[in-house]
Amino acid sequence: MPGVDIKKDDTVRVRSGKDRGKEGRVVRVLPREGRVMVEGVAMAKKHQRTQGRRTSGGTQLQQGGIIDIETFIDISNVQVVCSACGQPTRIGHRTEPDGRKVRFCRHCESEL
Ligand SMILES: [Zn+2]
Repeated sequence: MPGVDIKKDDTVRVRSGKDRGKEGRVVRVLPREGRVMVEGVAMAKKHQRTQGRRTSGGTQLQQGGIIDIETFIDISNVQVVCSACGQPTRIGHRTEPDGRKVRFCRHCESEL
């Protein structure tokens, strides 16, 4: 499947949707679901409840509110940005002479 080579901490660019053109760091990958979570991308508002917390001085209220969280997007909607040439790229695979399997950038052939 194309795209499943994306790993945590890769920098990716969003290719479609409302965040098209944005770049961010991958924070989570769900390879089997084919979904990724990218820092600052696909933000959604989440309501947090006000919670009571017991302390030695009584009950302290932790104020709830609306927070922004990332949501998962389809892995096919992002492309890895090569750290060497800075371009969104397709990923290739090759085996090094020492037997390591590495990913490489199809533009500049740098190891990713
Ligand atoms: Zn490159």
